[in-house]
Amino acid sequence: MTHADALTEDDRPMRPAMLRGWRRRCPNCGEGQLLRGYLKVRDTCPNCGEELHHHRADDGPAYLTILVVGHLMAPLIMWAFVTYRPDPVVLSSVFAVGCVALSLYLLPRLKGVMVAIQWAKRMHGFGDPAHD
Ligand SMILES: [Zn+2]
Repeated sequence: MTHADALTEDDRPMRPAMLRGWRRRCPNCGEGQLLRGYLKVRDTCPNCGEELHHHRADDGPAYLTILVVGHLMAPLIMWAFVTYRPDPVVLSSVFAVGCVALSLYLLPRLKGVMVAIQWAKRMHGFGDPAHD
């Protein structure tokens, strides 16, 4: 099989890879842990040995996290203010904790999704035999 065949072959379906990434598992086998610690991507999958160090997630997961949390929390804070008219300290405390908690929940999952998309699309050296 040539490199061109590998690029056109659809052996890395996007949706299952993204779901595995969301579960913070290896996009190839779905078993091995993708992350070491909270956010550090492992160099290789501990289960199947798939190389994961090719990823270039960079600021993407943080951007997506801010995008999602902002679009969820901004309308919610408006709704809570109009509906309940809470004390400002209560409102800001509740939403500060909510924003931090949701961000901490989403960040590693969105990073897994982003690495999985790069793996499925063979970006940045994923699937490049010269880099194996
Ligand atoms: Zn694996």
